Amino acid sequence: MLLLDIKELLKYIHINKLFNGRNMNTNIRLILKAKEILRNTTPLPFDCGTLCENLCCKGSEDVGMLLFPDEEHLYINSGNFEIIDGKIIVCKGHCDRDERPLSCMLYPLFPVISEESGKTRIRLIPDIRGSIICPLTAEENLVTRDFERAVRRAVRCLIVSPEHRRFIDNISEELSEIYTLRNLLIK
Ligand code: SF4
Ligand code: SF4
Repeated sequence: MLLLDIKELLKYIHINKLFNGRNMNTNIRLILKAKEILRNTTPLPFDCGTLCENLCCKGSEDVGMLLFPDEEHLYINSGNFEIIDGKIIVCKGHCDRDERPLSCMLYPLFPVISEESGKTRIRLIPDIRGSIICPLTAEENLVTRDFERAVRRAVRCLIVSPEHRRFIDNISEELSEIYTLRNLLIK
């Protein structure tokens, strides 16, 4: 417990140093909150990397993950990642779990958000962008209910920000187009 507290304290100091007296904006606060929700949850009850030899972490230097709006600020001075145009993060194929970008924490799911009868509905779909490498994207419902619940909670938290909501909507539209194209090709 004491170790955990010290780790939390160090993280707090690190984040405050990053912002060096500047205001941490709402987008960043929400990202930190979402990361906290997802921090200790995994798609399967065991390390799913054992199914595929960690393929999703074995991209090349040209392959990166999309950053949520303002997420790039959390990686200032981080020697472990390269940020491209403030929008894409490239890793070295290994990382501290707590440092993972949100895209990695949500993977292999992605949310599709809709408004129905005045309620915001979050549907989680397998992230088809990873279908070549990730066995967990082969169909829906391959991850645990706990993981799905955590992703839903994290997404609910993020979409308080209109910028995060727009970011998610744009990607889920792209994913829908890829699904449509794939279904046409399969027919
Ligand atoms: S590719 Fe899929 S199964 Fe493999 S480590 Fe990544 S999320 Fe887990
Ligand atoms: S940041 Fe970490 S979790 Fe994400 S792809 Fe790189 S090594 Fe894997």
